[in-house]
Amino acid sequence: MKIGRFFVGGEWVEAIAGATREILNPVDNKVIAVVADGSEHDARLAIECARKAFDEGPWPQMRAQERASYLFKLADLIEAHAAELAELETRNNGKPLREAQFDVADAAGCFRYYAGLITKPLGQTFEVSDPAIQCMVVREPIGVCAQIIPWNYPLLMASWKLAPGLAAGNCCILKVAEATPLTAIRLFELIAEAGFPPGSAQLLTGPGPTVGHALAASLLVDKIAFTGGTATGRKIMQDATGNLKKVTLELGGKSPNIVFADSDFELALEYALFAIYAGQGEVCSAGSRLILDKRIADKFLPRLGEAAARIILGDGLDPQTEMGPLITRAHMTRVLGYIEAGKAEGAELLAGGQQLTGGGLAEGNFVNPTVFVNTRSDMKIVREEIFGPVLAVQLFDTEEEAVHLANDTVYGLAGAVFTTDIGKGLRVLKRLRAGITWCNTYHPTFNEAPWGGYKQSGIGRELGTFGLDAYLETKQININMAPQKLGWFRGV
Ligand code: NAD
Repeated sequence: MKIGRFFVGGEWVEAIAGATREILNPVDNKVIAVVADGSEHDARLAIECARKAFDEGPWPQMRAQERASYLFKLADLIEAHAAELAELETRNNGKPLREAQFDVADAAGCFRYYAGLITKPLGQTFEVSDPAIQCMVVREPIGVCAQIIPWNYPLLMASWKLAPGLAAGNCCILKVAEATPLTAIRLFELIAEAGFPPGSAQLLTGPGPTVGHALAASLLVDKIAFTGGTATGRKIMQDATGNLKKVTLELGGKSPNIVFADSDFELALEYALFAIYAGQGEVCSAGSRLILDKRIADKFLPRLGEAAARIILGDGLDPQTEMGPLITRAHMTRVLGYIEAGKAEGAELLAGGQQLTGGGLAEGNFVNPTVFVNTRSDMKIVREEIFGPVLAVQLFDTEEEAVHLANDTVYGLAGAVFTTDIGKGLRVLKRLRAGITWCNTYHPTFNEAPWGGYKQSGIGRELGTFGLDAYLETKQININMAPQKLGWFRGV
């Protein structure tokens, strides 16, 4: 049994109040670990440690090359422990092993990307109107950065936060989701092994409303970076007003996947399934609304329903498994509640719609891949983020109607279009009010390219140069190369 603790000031510590939390495997809800469970007091201690480390160094003052060398070392260690990390992720989160393996590779790549990026040119020089002045701009770390992450990509979200934050020279405090601390704890063991200076990176586990709230509200924290639900994002933004800390938010989505009649049928069919059922649909950018050309609906929908019903659910460690369990019993109940609401509002089930209890799955949190047809735009299953394997199909006649349906949401995280007419593909993507878009593919995510949403899907961007920018202040420096007295005040 693994016993997990906090990592604060370079030391492993217990919760001040001695509280612990049992961590369950969602495949059978058996306890797989016990970890320290924090409170506001633990948050305060971590904040003070990070504050001291930022104000006194050495991390923020280190040359970029030296900081980068720690990040490269960490990337190597993640790769050396890739198999173990992927297995641990599957056991804690439930996702199939092949998905966890992608996450681990991406996590290592993220640390490597930002290690490289921080050593590249960051500043600017200007020629200004006064010839005596050399004006330049340098980029500096923001300070103490609190980073709060959800349970769906525990290791990857930790990496998306820590890699740019640390590369930029900030001192970071990562708070992981209550249900999924295990790969982050292992990551911090590797951070310790890589020899990061004490105070540069801290890890907290514990409840959002106490530990997370304390981080968001603290006057000693300079920035809060949050990934999670939109309602929580709103609270965090309010908490952050005390010292007007910098805020970046990566929130929920209800992303459209538009399939035109002229698309490659088999490709569009497979991606329609991948868009929603990868990661059990517990993916912020999931293609949870299939916006389908009416002209192919009669052929497309029966194939979609049959293929959804054939997806194999089970333990993510079993190589046969194509979809895992939902994260917790409570979340499964919430997803099943949405399915009931869809039925009550008059939508028709084409596939799935139940908890799976056969084949030894009764103890886990399994909901079979669900497809709703005959939906209306005002239904809950069309408007709200379900964060589970539930697809709502909406039909359209014209390109204009497809764009209208796609944008008819308060969210704006992602979206895709399937067509063999590349001109139409680009035309439609340019009209989507969403931050991440794909044509003839779904889900690929790159460390090099910005990730984030329009509308209520968030504020700011992670990844790419934009992601580093979000962890840097911008300072103007002016050097007078020919100083002489001003003569402004006659008495001087
Ligand atoms: P959540 O908002 O409930 O929790 C996320 C994190 O916030 C957890 O660590 C939690 O402990 C913490 N938290 C909860 N209440 C808090 C508070 N009052 N103050 C501070 N922290 C608090 O979300 P979840 O259920 O863990 O994750 C699912 C959500 O995350 C979905 O809406 C999904 O779309 C979103 N998500 C977005 C992205 C993205 O990149 N946009 C990526 C992954 C997940």
